[in-house]
Amino acid sequence: MRALIISDLHSNLEALESVFQAAMGEYDEVFCCGDVVGYGPNPNEVIERLIAARAHVIRGNHDRVAGGLENPDWFGESARLAALWTRAVLAPAHREFLRALPSGPAVFLEGAFQLVHGSLLDEDEYVYDEDGAADSLRMTQVPVTFFGHTHFPCVFSFDQIGETRLEAGGESEPQSSLWIHLESGIRYLVNPGSVGQPRDGDRRAAYGLFDSQAHFVKLRRVEYDIAAVQEKMRAVRLPELLIDRLMVGE
Ligand code: ZN
Repeated sequence: MRALIISDLHSNLEALESVFQAAMGEYDEVFCCGDVVGYGPNPNEVIERLIAARAHVIRGNHDRVAGGLENPDWFGESARLAALWTRAVLAPAHREFLRALPSGPAVFLEGAFQLVHGSLLDEDEYVYDEDGAADSLRMTQVPVTFFGHTHFPCVFSFDQIGETRLEAGGESEPQSSLWIHLESGIRYLVNPGSVGQPRDGDRRAAYGLFDSQAHFVKLRRVEYDIAAVQEKMRAVRLPELLIDRLMVGE
């Protein structure tokens, strides 16, 4: 199966459309590691687009808050304001969509791969380094785990003797496409990066392609109309900080 892997869309419709366009013809099904909404100006439209694509989606922390399952008490100020704005504009059916999203891990293709939002231990944990990746990878037998939450594209590997390595991502120069062959007997923890709010210094939308038969993962970037998104955010008075950070990707 050829899967399009996306995460952290954050109500950014232009970025999502660019990803679908760029990946067209290269995937059979869509999988999303959560944070469909929050920060951006088009929560309803992004949810509709995922429903139309028959995407398999798990929830992120922003989805829980926007769906009203939780209050944004522990959010930073601009994230909190955006979450409350999202709640107010969500159509009732889309609020229900968010509330019904399963938490990870969600396993697919008879155990070939799984999705989590934060980590295998905690859906809200941030995995940035080998230690965090090892904590998750030692407790699963599933060969490939996709995650989000950090908005940092990367690939960790975990071999039979428990050695964990960062195979891609981190401090390297921005690239448009990275191809990683998946070895058998090794477990992988892969973050496709964020579609709607990249934070690794590359403002382009990020996504992943996974081929379960050919055993590879590709990490890709694509340009989208950032100015159009910023204009919409200004029109509905979303916080300036969130508008500005899209242009720098940090
Ligand atoms: Zn997020």
